[in-house]
Amino acid sequence: FTSCCPAWVKFCETRYPELADNISTCRSPQQMFGAVIREYYRNPEINQGKKLVSVSIMPCTAKKEEILRPESMTNGRQDVDYVLTTTEVASMIRKSGIRFENIDGESTDMPFGIGSGGGVIFGVTGGVTEAVLRRLQTGHSRVEMDRIRTSGVRGDEGLKELTFDYMGKEIRAAVVNGLGNADKLIKRIQSGEVSYDFVEVMACRRGCIMGGGQPVGAGPRTRKARAKGLYDTDVNMQIKKSNENPMVLALYEGLLKGKTHQLLHRNLGVTEN
Ligand code: SF4
Repeated sequence: FTSCCPAWVKFCETRYPELADNISTCRSPQQMFGAVIREYYRNPEINQGKKLVSVSIMPCTAKKEEILRPESMTNGRQDVDYVLTTTEVASMIRKSGIRFENIDGESTDMPFGIGSGGGVIFGVTGGVTEAVLRRLQTGHSRVEMDRIRTSGVRGDEGLKELTFDYMGKEIRAAVVNGLGNADKLIKRIQSGEVSYDFVEVMACRRGCIMGGGQPVGAGPRTRKARAKGLYDTDVNMQIKKSNENPMVLALYEGLLKGKTHQLLHRNLGVTEN
């Protein structure tokens, strides 16, 4: 089971504790990035004596609780200090009178300003699975990306099932969104009716685009536009796979060397290798 949705992780731990060991040990994107940022700014040459305060902006209210989960902390230390929802940030922007038309645009601070399409599409149901399929796929041509896109991973159904070939082995995956749908799927898994190698679960219907921190009252047109916004952004990104992001590769060769489990995985007694 995927581990990027804290509401799902909590649901599994409380409703199906016997399955909790099947959840990936990977921290969520928020917790991975929080740990990496904190580690990066520990260097006195980089922090220049300034105190770091880490603030996430998220579509999700469950992310506020996630930063306090002990197994997602680094050496017992909280990595992310505050979480603001997108609705809260929008309200702060309005209240402070910021007018975007009067602001000069600028690029994201380096070295963390380079992302991949695989990261962008995490926000819509099926996006995590699609990013994993991209990672497994050796090539990155348009034909190969299209094959993944049309594999059944996209669409806003509550449950999608697909198979894909990985080095001659058939991998069976399920993509489920909404905890009611997840509950039904788990019962089918436990009864032996179905089995999968990989299951993506998002607690919110249609994924984070419809998270509890997003503006409420989104109808069908808005829902569609939010998903389209992410997919359109992905189309224009030159880097499609996280493992081809030069920034990620540089991190593994530098800052993360010998610390991948400490910083990127939940603290479940996993040892470094
Ligand atoms: S699916 Fe919902 S609860 Fe889960 S991480 Fe996304 S916004 Fe949060």
